[in-house]
Formats: sequence, structure tokens, C-alpha cells
Amino acid sequence: MKLNCRAASRLISAGLDRPLSATEHVRLRMHLFLCGNCRQFSQQLGALREAARRAGQGEDGSTGE
Ligand SMILES: [Zn+2]
Repeated sequence: MKLNCRAASRLISAGLDRPLSATEHVRLRMHLFLCGNCRQFSQQLGALREAARRAGQGEDGSTGE
């Protein structure tokens, strides 16, 4: 039942593209709580995606939320 780091990082990047299921979300949160490496990875990836989204906003014509 416990997530390993590989599964966790897969969920982290999946979570940026689609909403995670409740189970996935809970399992990921639990792993991030216990694992500093994945927590850092999650923050870095989130920041990266955020920057990419901001940079891409002008190109696809979407104004975001
Ligand atoms: Zn981990």
C-alpha cells in the first residue's frame, strides 16, 4: 500500500496534468509527508510547470482562470 519514490514522482507529474483520485491524492500526500526528496521534487516540478504555464499563456490565447 505504501508508495515508493518512483510511483510518487509519477503521481506528482500526473497530478499536474489531471486531477488525482482521492486515493492517489492521499497516498501521495502521505509519501510527501514522509519523504523529503519527493517533497522537494514536487515543489520544483510545480514551480517549473507554473512558470511554463505563465510563459505559454500568450501563445495559446488562453487567459487562464
Ligand atoms: Zn519519495
